[in-house]
Amino acid sequence: MKAWLLPLTLATAMAQAAPDLAAERAQLADLTRRAYDAPAAMLAELDRRWPADVDPAREAAWLFARGRVLLAAGQAEAADAVAVQLAAREHGADRSWLLRALIQERAGRPAGALAARALSGLEKRCPTGAAGRAQRDAECDVAATWEALRLQLREQAGQGAFVDAENGARRALALARLGGDRHLAALSLGLLASVLQQQDQLDAARAEIRAAHAEAQGDLVAGARVRNYEAVVERRSRDVPAARAALEAGLELAEQAEAPHLAAQLRSNLVDTYMHLGQLKEALATAQRALPVLQRFHDKLLERNLHHNLAVTHIKLRQFEAARHELAKVAEFATDPADLVPRARELRELGDTWAEAGQHKEALAAYHAERELTARTNERNRASALEELRRKYDTAAKQRDLELLARDGQLKDQQLANGRLVQQLGLAIGALLLLSMALVGVTLLRMRRAQARLRANQHLLRAQSERDPLTDLSNRRHFLAVMDARARDGGAAGFRGVLMMIDIDHFKNVNDQHGHAAGDAVIVEVGRRIRAAVRDTDLVVRWGGEEFLVYAPELAADDLAQMAARILHGIGGPPIATPDGMLRITASIGFASFPLGGTAGAALRLHWEQAVNWADMVLYKAKAEGRNRGVGIAAVEAPDADTLAAILQDFDAACQQGQVRLNVLVGPA
Ligand code: GH3
Ligand code: MG
Ligand code: MG
Repeated sequence: MKAWLLPLTLATAMAQAAPDLAAERAQLADLTRRAYDAPAAMLAELDRRWPADVDPAREAAWLFARGRVLLAAGQAEAADAVAVQLAAREHGADRSWLLRALIQERAGRPAGALAARALSGLEKRCPTGAAGRAQRDAECDVAATWEALRLQLREQAGQGAFVDAENGARRALALARLGGDRHLAALSLGLLASVLQQQDQLDAARAEIRAAHAEAQGDLVAGARVRNYEAVVERRSRDVPAARAALEAGLELAEQAEAPHLAAQLRSNLVDTYMHLGQLKEALATAQRALPVLQRFHDKLLERNLHHNLAVTHIKLRQFEAARHELAKVAEFATDPADLVPRARELRELGDTWAEAGQHKEALAAYHAERELTARTNERNRASALEELRRKYDTAAKQRDLELLARDGQLKDQQLANGRLVQQLGLAIGALLLLSMALVGVTLLRMRRAQARLRANQHLLRAQSERDPLTDLSNRRHFLAVMDARARDGGAAGFRGVLMMIDIDHFKNVNDQHGHAAGDAVIVEVGRRIRAAVRDTDLVVRWGGEEFLVYAPELAADDLAQMAARILHGIGGPPIATPDGMLRITASIGFASFPLGGTAGAALRLHWEQAVNWADMVLYKAKAEGRNRGVGIAAVEAPDADTLAAILQDFDAACQQGQVRLNVLVGPA
């Protein structure tokens, strides 16, 4: 007999004996939980037990459970129809939002906003404070509320709002405790561990994982899920062997629990660890076992991810045809256009792997696709930052208007009173008029001051949002703003000036061998050395993690190589002091002066983004040719824009055919 049958039979007996709302809800939650691994059986079970006459308050809970089970069975459209039904039911609106959020999640799309909407209603009925325990509302649906919290905090963590996410995990834990649900308590501790790790609190995260293990005692599925959280924490802290061990232990538990879907999920995560530990045969074998199961469960999200991992593994095994085949599979899955960040991460991994395998053409294509995505992400972030500023400003301005209106009203009352007094006391007229005018004057003055303060705040906020907090250099957003401003006043001439893209060599090793703090110290010092090597009027930007961009608007072509050499020798010169000792660092540089030299220059106008692509391309060359060097573009022979674009497409070939002449500087020995 399968392990889940026994408690279910018991639960059925209970449902018939005592129609206790909370107990019924706990049973539905249990059934939904089991549906992850046995959707068809649970769907049948749900239909069998569907109550004949059910009042609206209970019906919403039953419908919601049905929607979730349908979703687990991969029937997203049927689940969506249930969400529509729910929206029209009494007590159904919150659950309808939540069901929609879960459908979004399953499709790999952002679900946080919908979850937040559901949560605002659901959480009201679940008071978790000190008083909550004593007077738990019968209306509180612990499992649904918990799920909404989970979705919300997942998105918050995804957007870097770790404090909010941590807060959410703690609320989820309190809620699980309130409902006496140890399964959910264990998962909450896992979630908490994950957000603590994201805040670099690794010890605290590991302590929560231990607490989660204790809470999951005797519950195989919870135990397996906690192992998965443990693996997430270890994997992100770069302890890949520990992540692998946790996943293998979790897999054993999932198999004991006869939970095939969960087992496939753990296997799919194992593929990533095997891949990174160089166990490529294991990676392939494990992926091949997980794939049919994920397909059977219609788990598109994990399936897509698995195809990506398979592609990377095949590239590493130099099985390029198979890799391309897997990549074509990946492309068949719809991705949410808003979900740019994980996609960019994938492309980066692909680019790195193609490059390691010496397939430079493919590597470049992946890097460029990544660059384009990253630019779009930045554009999106910039738009939302500006929107945020505008909102803040609007709210403050509105508040001011209201205050002024109120004062205005007071003034009018005052004037009326004055009128009456004038009739009675002629002498008082002048004095009262003066008083009114003074009041108006003071109010106007205050208004002006407040507006000036608001304007100053806005400038400050914008300035802060355009600075990189670690190095105090400009960030990419600032560079985009400068480029936009230049394009506005006279951009028709195309991008002019010098661009240098600088990337620290083997920086990952610094982090891995000396810790993140040493990595940060290196980034700060490299930023300082670049700043020292260029003129005050040049713009130095922290472009990304350990990448910098220098933009020199006016630099003679002759001075260009000298500046690159100063930067190379500046960075590669004296060792850098870090908390882990003195470290010697080198960097690679790609540089170019625009308009480009040769026949390309005069005729062709480049947009600044294209200019960045050229600098990036030569940086890539500098990396490929052994690092610790600068590669610049001396001249490009291209009569028209199409030829120029074709050169970027296959840069290596263009160099060999002499269409591009390069200028190579070697860094310090
Ligand atoms: P390459 O020579 O090819 O450039 O190799 P690399 O290791 O320098 O390149 P890669 O781009 O793979 O690694 C960059 C690493 O920088 C990965 C990321 O974890 C790390 N990183 C990014 N931002 C920061 C940061 O702010 N601080 C620290 N310490 N590390 C960072
Ligand atoms: Mg880099
Ligand atoms: Mg690097």
